[in-house]
Amino acid sequence: MSENLLAARPMSRRSSVAVRIGAIRVGDAAPVVVQSMTNTDTADVIGTTKQVAELARVGSELVRLTVNTAEAAAAVPKIRERLDMMGVSVPLIGDFHYNGHQLLSAEPACAEALAKYRINPGNVGFGRKRDTQFSTIIEFALKYKKPVRIGANWGSLDQDLLARMMDENHLRTEPWDAGRVMREALIRSALDSAARAEELGMQRDQIILSCKVSGVQELIAVYRDLAARCDYALHLGLTEAGMGSKGIVASSAALAVLLQEGIGDTIRISLTPEPNESRTREVIVAQELLQTIGLRAFTPLVTACPGCGRTTSVFFQELAQSIQSHVREKMPEWRLQYDGVENLTLAVMGCIVNGPGESKHANIGISLPGTGEAPAAPVFIDGVKAMTLRGEHIAQEFVGVVEDYIARKFARASAS
Ligand code: SF4
Repeated sequence: MSENLLAARPMSRRSSVAVRIGAIRVGDAAPVVVQSMTNTDTADVIGTTKQVAELARVGSELVRLTVNTAEAAAAVPKIRERLDMMGVSVPLIGDFHYNGHQLLSAEPACAEALAKYRINPGNVGFGRKRDTQFSTIIEFALKYKKPVRIGANWGSLDQDLLARMMDENHLRTEPWDAGRVMREALIRSALDSAARAEELGMQRDQIILSCKVSGVQELIAVYRDLAARCDYALHLGLTEAGMGSKGIVASSAALAVLLQEGIGDTIRISLTPEPNESRTREVIVAQELLQTIGLRAFTPLVTACPGCGRTTSVFFQELAQSIQSHVREKMPEWRLQYDGVENLTLAVMGCIVNGPGESKHANIGISLPGTGEAPAAPVFIDGVKAMTLRGEHIAQEFVGVVEDYIARKFARASAS
């Protein structure tokens, strides 16, 4: 992204405190961190280890696990051990509801193996037990030197607090609408809980906050308000975003606005996977969101035209897809071998109308022949026509051109 565009992006509010989660920093000047959550039964050590490793392999920098039963808590240190043996160092976050105080007490090895505890202030306990159970979890976090996320969610909002605030609202000369009261209750739940955690001894650099809702405009309103009222590091995500394109669009619409305003230090895309779809999709969507708005680069992205009546075959679509899949597949290996390869830009275009022009803007671009054009595909490298591909093996030859470019341009200084 050009310096001018970067300068134009408002960066008014990243958290001024950084939270360390294992080797990962969240907040302050650290890059926005991508995280994900497993959907396996945590008690299934083999299945959960496999899924965590898959999420980490595609680039999830933190992975959260449900810790809901004694079996799940007992499995956590075993999962950590297996991941370490596999060379997967991604920090694990424990997601606790209702019984976190008991599980952390009963399974010290789980408390130790986790790199962060997530506490939902609406689900930590009921009535008078709420405060003592919240305090117990914070005491474990202090004992094991772990940061916490205090994550309020409007699906599990503290009902006592909400009822109190509704009563207060009735006494206002101009009562707020119910939505505003709910948003305020969500924020108060997170801020009051964070203040309580500080009273108990937590430092600000051990606390991350989140206030998740499932509506785009509500999420933007809540986080703008939350960001204006505190400088804790913020975990950002649209809860229950949904499936497929709906979930991706809704999450992107909400998070892009907030990230553009400098709000959000770590993100999760809460996608519902389609049946048999890999859980890794939520990581890829989070990365592509950050990359397309210019905040981070993770993997070379392919610019492709949508196609139109000038293309009578699906060849250019297949080529764009195979190139994108190829670079994503190779990226874990390339990341170790090549510096800056994630910034490579590629273009696959369907005909001569925009093909050569768009291809020249990319590091490597190919302009395939549209209907009626000569069966030749000019390839542009760094804006200059470098060759023309023809025949049945254009796809393989183009992959070869990309591989060769990467080896030449991104080789580590020590390796060249
Ligand atoms: S580049 Fe050609 S094929 Fe692609 S959308 Fe434009 S006119 Fe259609």
